[in-house]
Amino acid sequence: MLAALCDTFAPGGDGLPQASAIGTPERVAELIAGLARKGERRQLELLLELFDSRAVTAFGGGGLRRFTSLDHAEREAVLLRLADARIGLQRQAFHALRKLTMLAYAASSGSASVWDAIGYPGPIGALAAPAPPTVATSIRRDGGRLSCDVVVVGSGAGGGVAAAVLAEAGLDVVVVEMGEHLTDADFDGGEQQGLTRAYLERGTAQTRDGSVALLAGSCLGGGTVVNYATSFATPENVRAEWASHGVSAFTSAVFDASLARVSERIGVSRDEGRPSRRDEILERGLRALGWHVDEMPRNTRGCDQGASCGYCGYGCRLGAKQSTLKTFLPDAAVAGARIFVRTRITRILHAGGHATGVEGRTALGEPVTISSRAVVLACGALHTPVLLRRSGLGNERVGRGLRLHPVLPLFGLFDDPVEPWTGTMQSRYSDEHRDLHNGYGLKYETAAVHPSLAAAFLPWRSAEDHARVLRRIAHLTPIGILLRDHGSGSVGVTREGEPDVRYAVSALDAAHLRVGVDGAAQILEAAGARWIGSTHASAPSYEPGRRADRAAFLADVDRDGFAAGRVGLVSFHLMGTAAMGGDAQSSACDPEGAVRGVRGVVVCDGSTFPTASGVNPMVTIEAIADMNARSLAATLGS
Ligand SMILES: Cc1cc2nc3c(=O)[nH]c(=O)nc-3n(C[C@H](O)[C@H](O)[C@H](O)COP(=O)(O)OP(=O)(O)OC[C@H]3O[C@@H](n4cnc5c(N)ncnc54)[C@H](O)[C@@H]3O)c2cc1C
Repeated sequence: MLAALCDTFAPGGDGLPQASAIGTPERVAELIAGLARKGERRQLELLLELFDSRAVTAFGGGGLRRFTSLDHAEREAVLLRLADARIGLQRQAFHALRKLTMLAYAASSGSASVWDAIGYPGPIGALAAPAPPTVATSIRRDGGRLSCDVVVVGSGAGGGVAAAVLAEAGLDVVVVEMGEHLTDADFDGGEQQGLTRAYLERGTAQTRDGSVALLAGSCLGGGTVVNYATSFATPENVRAEWASHGVSAFTSAVFDASLARVSERIGVSRDEGRPSRRDEILERGLRALGWHVDEMPRNTRGCDQGASCGYCGYGCRLGAKQSTLKTFLPDAAVAGARIFVRTRITRILHAGGHATGVEGRTALGEPVTISSRAVVLACGALHTPVLLRRSGLGNERVGRGLRLHPVLPLFGLFDDPVEPWTGTMQSRYSDEHRDLHNGYGLKYETAAVHPSLAAAFLPWRSAEDHARVLRRIAHLTPIGILLRDHGSGSVGVTREGEPDVRYAVSALDAAHLRVGVDGAAQILEAAGARWIGSTHASAPSYEPGRRADRAAFLADVDRDGFAAGRVGLVSFHLMGTAAMGGDAQSSACDPEGAVRGVRGVVVCDGSTFPTASGVNPMVTIEAIADMNARSLAATLGS
């Protein structure tokens, strides 16, 4: 059944292999079995069982016959009925199967023949002599108990900085990270290996209704290892807005100093921003329109701004990206911090309203208990609220206020090759539509496109259409519409203790995305695109001067809208689920990041944002971690 389904999505032909001939069904089964949430897993398994019943086929217009007995056109018709169903759950099921199948088909170790057919060179390989590891780590094998002054849970943007600040203040620090310790030798640019080893939930995390794909790092260094090195400081208007939430520090010299310190340590500059062909196209379109365009600040030292850089989303093999793995974590280790990896913390221990440590389990199954005077939470905006809730701590604001900066990619096809997997990750952006309403709006940015992104986000209306675009991947460029979301969602906890993410695009945000779709189409058109398409479910597209026009394209986009299952959105920025603020009714944490309702727990990650930052958030998270960790060090010191 799964083979029949995979072969309907990707039947091959004209050089492309048939999905079942390259192990796609087996890989899809593996991906489903590895989904973190039992509910999601069960739903897909059930659907697959149902799929070969006569009822599902009849619903899809296939008559009372089994799916496997239908011919290709009939199978496509069944899938399209699901894709266009009125019931959200059915659309969601279609997209989940489509994404997993196309991901397995185009971006796994068995995909070499697909890559040959589409002109993708495959993994770039690790360097012959990669730099040695920057820190020593271990996984505890003795089921032991440890004690320290502060345990830092999570080692990404926030956790890495907090660990360094606290250890350099003379405190005894233990860092615990659930992901692996990957080094430059592991970064070979392979998509399957990169997603599996360095990303949260192997890159398959999504909101409960499947409407937004959620990308986050999960390895030593967290998101800073896989991110695109864009390093914006917190904008002044956002700092003022956050100060109005009762955190006056955001407009003070204290936050200025934190921003300056972290930017210096991670080498933020505009020195290594040679534009990729994607960014040349973005800039060309923007200049032709007379719109805003500028260079990105980036945190690299020694970036080749060429072939290696395009693979940077799976880790920088050159060691040029100044992740916390290269900067703050080594600083913490030099100052005496102990770092444990592959250890997931499951509970914060507490007594008499005060945190007394944490407990968890190593990947080897050993229990670990760490006693401490304080706990720093830096698990990212999905897992920080989960850990608080699982521990019965916090307050009713914990988990609320989730912001995602949803990104809607528009794709353009060009006559000249773009090779969108090469060149500086991100080096140009536009703030033309940054302020559409009270400081809320969007940014235009590009990103590297590897088969996984194209396969998972290009809409599927027929195997032939999908394969046609995939075959031209070397000529494709994306423009990401990165929304500063005004609306918000929430993170709850599933029965198995995983994040349960709910999020819907608000009416105001949908209107802003609509401006972005029009804007990105104009940019691509002005840059000379031959074909322009969106990730909306009905696959709207046009060919400037040849087929349809922007007005017709936008009318199709409007018919789809922005509800779940109608458009492919992705979030790289998870924020706001344990927000700092002056008011106990509206913020989970006080102005120094301390969780209300328990003493001795301080949040130092993207959860702390009172609202969306509107810019790529790493530098802001690091500056907040610097500021909150300094306050904590002063409290513990005294
Ligand atoms: C592909 C990609 C590209 C991006 N590009 C950019 C960019 O160019 N510029 C930018 O500013 N931002 C970018 N971002 C976003 C940025 O990297 C993140 O916002 C940032 O890393 C988040 O920091 P954090 O401290 O909140 O959490 P993270 O960096 O996500 O770190 C959280 C860590 O906690 C660990 N953890 C979670 N739960 C537990 C637990 N229970 N026990 C132990 N460990 C746990 C996780 O494994 C993870 O390593 C990008 C993100 C992605 C995924």
